[in-house]
Amino acid sequence: MPLFPQSVEELTDHFAKLPGIGRKGAVRLVFHLLEQEACDVRAFADAMVAAREKTVFCRECQNISDEPVCPICRDPERDGSLLCVVAEPRDVAAVERCREYNGRYHILHGVISPTRRKSPDDIRLKELLKRVERGGFQEVILATNPDTDGDTTALYIARLLRPFGAKVTRLAYGLPMGGHVEYADELTILRALDGRREV
Ligand SMILES: [Zn+2]
Repeated sequence: MPLFPQSVEELTDHFAKLPGIGRKGAVRLVFHLLEQEACDVRAFADAMVAAREKTVFCRECQNISDEPVCPICRDPERDGSLLCVVAEPRDVAAVERCREYNGRYHILHGVISPTRRKSPDDIRLKELLKRVERGGFQEVILATNPDTDGDTTALYIARLLRPFGAKVTRLAYGLPMGGHVEYADELTILRALDGRREV
């Protein structure tokens, strides 16, 4: 017999599926919600649905956006000759925080990982190749994390981009091996950008 009413069990199951929550954490969150005003819980639920339904992928850079082309891609002030390739939308926020980079982005939505069975077809690589093929980029900065999968992905992309003639660089210094672009502070990213090397 279930311990809680069915609606509570169902909600707990949903929370338990979220990353880093687990069953115990899910129960704690659900009981916290049950103590809130019904209107506040509805606002929370509405915000979740709205974020999911209104969010699309920018058709240029593949970042999450609430319009077909995101504000960064629409911004005429940004340097159209520079392209920074990152693994996740969260990494864009990290690079933007350092206020040094003024080029464009491309978001892969993952990295190539033989151990996690992620192949080149599982990330937004075709979209990247099409963009670079169209021309206009003088430099493509590969800013995937400095770990095994990040390095594998960067080398794979560097090889594919070679025929297009753009200079291909990789963040070299500052980021510790095994570190994450997402969690790096502004100064670390600044150093990593300054120290990028051609691959
Ligand atoms: Zn965009």
